[in-house]
Amino acid sequence: MLPRFAGVATFMRLPHLPLADAREVEIGLLGVPFDSATTNRPGTRHGPRALRDASTMIRLMNQATGTAPFHLARCADLGDVGVNPLSIDDTIARIAEHYRAVRDAGIVPLTAGGDHLVSWPILRGMVDADAPVGMIHFDAHSDLYGPYFGGFDSHGTPFRRAIEEGLLDPERTVQIGLRGSSIDMSDVDFGRAHGVRMVFIEEVRERGPDAIMAEARTIVGTAPIYVSFDIDVLDPSQAPGTGTPEVGGLFVHEAQRMLRQLAGLDVIGADLVEVSPPFDVGGLTSLAGVNVMFELLCVLAERLYHRRSS
Ligand code: MN
Ligand code: MN
Repeated sequence: MLPRFAGVATFMRLPHLPLADAREVEIGLLGVPFDSATTNRPGTRHGPRALRDASTMIRLMNQATGTAPFHLARCADLGDVGVNPLSIDDTIARIAEHYRAVRDAGIVPLTAGGDHLVSWPILRGMVDADAPVGMIHFDAHSDLYGPYFGGFDSHGTPFRRAIEEGLLDPERTVQIGLRGSSIDMSDVDFGRAHGVRMVFIEEVRERGPDAIMAEARTIVGTAPIYVSFDIDVLDPSQAPGTGTPEVGGLFVHEAQRMLRQLAGLDVIGADLVEVSPPFDVGGLTSLAGVNVMFELLCVLAERLYHRRSS
């Protein structure tokens, strides 16, 4: 038995199994070390490695909910997706192919990014275009912008793309924590025109996290959803290591409380993106990130456990 700080770091000290050897696995934790679609400060390609290191402090039980995820579901670290740091298009194809194989293996993915672009090809791999899923999306930004620099995709475009391709049902999509200055209103216009529920941080403050989550649960209903958590939804005082920080964000305890209210929803996969270790301070952002991943893992494990026993 090794102490938690010793040994080779994997996500939450799980066994490392390549996808080909993961037949028994129910929940796979994966890294997508890609940041070539970043528009401002880079560095999220180093996210998965820093998150693995910080995650060795994650223990067995969630003391708030009583969930012991590793007892409820067979979990493994499936390693990193083979991205191409020199090509966004090639990386999109590689990620989509990888997640299609994850889906076909019957594994529920919990991903650590990477910049937020990666959520789009993850959805391409997991979802059929004629059966769009809903989404609960925590972020300071909507990521509903159109192409950048005359036609290129970025970490500001993934969910516009996913809606255009019929991967996401906009009327079952809720975005929480939006804020900050913006260039124009094109993302908000797109979201509202398509029926996305966009919750700005001021509304979270006014109505409280519980009321927002109750409404989100009603909007997404009982059909399948994806959960995407951009670490920049947190206040930069709690998560400074990210590419596009915005002041006035959620505190970690508020995010934990909200994530626990995903319990019982049909969550088919989740990600935690935009942790940029080179801009981190004392490992704060990675620590917040892995605790977000742990809350997501608890939700995924409870879902599998209840599906198995019902
Ligand atoms: Mn984002
Ligand atoms: Mn963001």
